[in-house]
Amino acid sequence: MTAATDLPDDLLERLGCGVVVAGGNGTLVCCNRPARDMAGLPLTPHALDGYAQALVGEGEAKALLAWLRTAGNGDGLTVAASERRWFHLTVARAEGRLVLTVADVTAFKRREVLLTELHERLAGEGRDLKRFAQDLAVARSAAAEALRRSEHANAALEREVGERRLLETELRRLADTDPLTEALNRRRFLTLAEKQAQRAAGHGWPLALLMLDLDHFKGINDRFGHDAGDRALHHFAAVVRGTLRAPALFGRLGGEEFAVLLPDCDLESATRVADRLRRLVKEQPPHADAEGGRMALSVSIGAAVLTPPEATAERLLKRADEALYAAKRAGRDRVAAVEG
Ligand code: GH3
Ligand code: MG
Ligand code: MG
Repeated sequence: MTAATDLPDDLLERLGCGVVVAGGNGTLVCCNRPARDMAGLPLTPHALDGYAQALVGEGEAKALLAWLRTAGNGDGLTVAASERRWFHLTVARAEGRLVLTVADVTAFKRREVLLTELHERLAGEGRDLKRFAQDLAVARSAAAEALRRSEHANAALEREVGERRLLETELRRLADTDPLTEALNRRRFLTLAEKQAQRAAGHGWPLALLMLDLDHFKGINDRFGHDAGDRALHHFAAVVRGTLRAPALFGRLGGEEFAVLLPDCDLESATRVADRLRRLVKEQPPHADAEGGRMALSVSIGAAVLTPPEATAERLLKRADEALYAAKRAGRDRVAAVEG
């Protein structure tokens, strides 16, 4: 940098960086446009100290001028100016003159400062973060514990609800079924039969009912005892249930009298079902004793079918009962059927 002062003025003006040239007594020989712009000066100031003040402010100017007095050829300095601006100055000495290049490094410096600040802040927060992390860990474990407890409580509640449902189902089942035979009890059977009768009437579907009465059951009790009679009833119910398919309903109307409701079933089909039941009961007699003796068991069945619109469960039961009476009269162990 020997010839900065020899550069033509217009070239100096067009340089990207600021160039300030001062004579030995501090008066300015040159201050190009970028140098003036950076210092916020519309015109070239008279002396170097005026430029320094304009560039960095009065407070910093003294230190800057002191540095400039001692700075050797090629020395550089980054100075902070007002409004968070930074300039990098490089010194060249030639022919008793000081040539100062000025570059605005605010953008770089800001990034550097920002990075430093960020770093410091992060470092500072790091300490807080540690505490925060501890708090967070405590909060997390508290939340996890609360969640675990609520899940536990939920699971317990669900279990309880489930158990209650099971209990309700079981209670309902118990309320609806006969304990000895597990057939529907009279009340439940009649309720469901009435519903089915209404449904059949509404849709114009046939509805069949079988009335079953064990033959000479009094004789079974007399011969094998009441408990054996109970076992025979249980056995009979199992045989019937094993034969029927949904939506058929099986109920114990009382004593050794049972009924089977067959929705959507005509008299012919009902009679077929009845005869199969009758046969199975006879073919699979219950055990009479531990030695393998069997009781002779038979059943008489009355079948009736009602077609809408006048179908009622009561009427259907009455008709089936009449048919049963006919089967008994005809000699038992048989099926009798009545129309309408
Ligand atoms: P039928 O062929 O005319 O039906 O003759 P039956 O002997 O079966 O008829 P009856 O009505 O005279 O007798 C029914 C018997 O059923 C009398 C009763 O003791 C018995 N019985 C009713 N309920 C039970 C029960 O729950 N357990 C036992 N072991 N016997 C019962
Ligand atoms: Mg009987
Ligand atoms: Mg009877």
